[in-house]
Amino acid sequence: MSTELDHRLAGLDVYRVGGAVRDALLGWPVTDVDWVVVGATPEAMRQRGFKPVGRDFPVFLHPDSHEEFALARTERKSGHGYTGFEIHASPSVTLEEDLARRDLTINAMAETPSGELVDPFGGRADLEARVLRHVSPAFIEDPLRVLRVARFLARYAGLGFVIAEETLTLMRRLVTSGEIAHLVAERVWTETEKALGEPWPDVYFQTLDDRGALAVLMPELVADTAQLDEALGRLQRLPEDIDSHEAAFWRWARLVEHLVPEQRRHLSERLRLPKAVSRLADQAAHTHRLVHETGMVDGKRVMAWLEGIDAWRRSERVPSLIALVSLDDASLAEDLALAWRLATQILPKSLVDEGYKGRALGEELARRRRAAIDGVMETGR
Ligand code: ATP
Ligand code: MG
Repeated sequence: MSTELDHRLAGLDVYRVGGAVRDALLGWPVTDVDWVVVGATPEAMRQRGFKPVGRDFPVFLHPDSHEEFALARTERKSGHGYTGFEIHASPSVTLEEDLARRDLTINAMAETPSGELVDPFGGRADLEARVLRHVSPAFIEDPLRVLRVARFLARYAGLGFVIAEETLTLMRRLVTSGEIAHLVAERVWTETEKALGEPWPDVYFQTLDDRGALAVLMPELVADTAQLDEALGRLQRLPEDIDSHEAAFWRWARLVEHLVPEQRRHLSERLRLPKAVSRLADQAAHTHRLVHETGMVDGKRVMAWLEGIDAWRRSERVPSLIALVSLDDASLAEDLALAWRLATQILPKSLVDEGYKGRALGEELARRRRAAIDGVMETGR
């Protein structure tokens, strides 16, 4: 969009802010652009055709580009958690005041439509020095910032970024004060899901663990440190055939696949995970057990695995789960692929044609599937 030619912005004091300014300077792909408007009222924004969307503070969508335009605001803490904020938005709030409420210096830069940088907190220098640094002591007013910093590190770790010492101290304080425990499940999962989509997702969990935050937010994961290290190593090892928009869910599944069912259930409940996420985690856990439990993988265990992953009803996941096996044991994966193919060639319909029905039909179907699987697992192994 050419901002200069946009009649809706004419005469408005607007600035590109936050991630778009940061990522453009870094040479990182800019996905969405956020704007701040200084000196305007909600009424004036509506008159220009902007659509109000903010529930808690005045944010508007541009009617054509759908980019976000927020009125400049300040925030002050007034209680625990997300609701404990007093928002103050008025035409008298300056750009600098708005930038001061932001978390990191690299996120507290603005740019005029003609490309001039406004950088009151040294964000550009920190970008160049590869440092994640808080803007002000008000950093400790929102515990989500601990997760956000960890997430930005998960994104930029490969560029050599580190967290400033003073910021690490504030992050730890948010943990030891107990403030981090006030985060609602949805905010924790939203941030975690984003982190799982970053290039170095293991860095997110490692950073939270180093600060003591993981023990509060996801205690099941830290019960066994050696296991956590192994799980973090698995995050980059995903089946090749999965959709990129599902990668975050798969990474979560790999993170928790070694946990016992009860631990996974507790974690799912604590974070109020979407059903699809917990289900994939369960499927990965069944697969983990098939590969790692000692002893021969025989037909009985393969049948139990197929039941466990709900293969007969949700067959679409099976190829990816077999691909998951192949990362650890290529020959087992080959046998599973063949066993699955043969078992799915046994059609209920042909059993009906042979005269089976009701319970006998179900039993005969299971018997023939098992025989097909046994045939492969006994000769193949
Ligand atoms: P991304 O590329 O992930 O979208 P972003 O920096 O744009 O990164 P957003 O979550 O979109 O991050 O937020 C936009 C801006 O709002 C941030 O750059 C930051 O200045 C500010 N911000 C968002 N959440 C917080 C928070 N919890 N505390 C302080 N500032 C925040
Ligand atoms: Mg953004």
